[in-house]
Amino acid sequence: MRAGPGSFPPAHRPNPWFSLDNHRTRRQECADEWFVREWLPLRSGGEFTVRFWGVRGSIPVPGANTVRYGGNTTCLEVRCGSHLIVFDAGTGLRELGRELITTSPVDFDLYFTHTHWDHIVGLPFFAPAYNPKSRIRLWAGHLGPNATLEHVLTNLMMAPLFPVPIDVFRASCSFNDYACGDVLTPQPGVVVRTGALNHPNRACGYRVEYAGGVFALITDTEHRGDDIDPNVLELARGADVLVYDAMYSDEEYAQRYKGWGHSTWQHALRVADAAGVRTTVLFHHDPAHTDDALDRIAAEADRVRPGTLVAREGQILTIR
Ligand SMILES: [Zn+2]
Ligand SMILES: [Zn+2]
Repeated sequence: MRAGPGSFPPAHRPNPWFSLDNHRTRRQECADEWFVREWLPLRSGGEFTVRFWGVRGSIPVPGANTVRYGGNTTCLEVRCGSHLIVFDAGTGLRELGRELITTSPVDFDLYFTHTHWDHIVGLPFFAPAYNPKSRIRLWAGHLGPNATLEHVLTNLMMAPLFPVPIDVFRASCSFNDYACGDVLTPQPGVVVRTGALNHPNRACGYRVEYAGGVFALITDTEHRGDDIDPNVLELARGADVLVYDAMYSDEEYAQRYKGWGHSTWQHALRVADAAGVRTTVLFHHDPAHTDDALDRIAAEADRVRPGTLVAREGQILTIR
């Protein structure tokens, strides 16, 4: 665990990515303080929402065939009233960061489902990490006991893989490891339950409970036949919104992808039925699934379980 701007880069090291604090006046700082103290709680008004910044699995796929659903890898913004939670740091994190710096300073928790590339690679390009006024608590539950989140992310930003080390971050960052299955309380009134998923190198699913509502994020995970994984069932039970790994169809899975660590949109609906979920959102789209392919899945899934959605970049859902 490491905290505090004091441990961050010496003054002689230039920040090649962002310069956020060079021209700030006291007047701007007062406006920031007012925004966070007065406006943000009013604007959020106790709402429980999720916004999708990256919905794709494995690798970003920008291009003409993915403009409607989006090509960025996984990143979600969950608002529990005035408290901000970010899930995963895929390439979608960059755009979220560009928005957050307009409401700077920011103070939030960033939970990783796991640390495969598609879930972390946006972190070096996340503007709030370079703002000394940000406070970011980073969490992962799949690594112990032989690795830590700080070690993994430090390796991500290490020569010759990346030109500058992680200590160019100027935010106050803390790196926290928990064990999948732990219950976390990032703020009074917000409960985050976690559970181990079936994925190579392990992954954690999340269940956020706030103001009587339930949001569940279950990616990346592979089902075992038609059985519902007890951990998945526990996390999804009674959820208002379930976001689930629907990388493949049952047909694609049977033909080619057994053992790859992912699930199917048909299994997402089996989980939703078993767990009594209100709205299911199909997520972590296969990079090969074009907008037209996702339209077909959306129509078929809505026929099987009306109200099912296919996650799109930019989409905002009210959980409660
Ligand atoms: Zn993934
Ligand atoms: Zn993965």
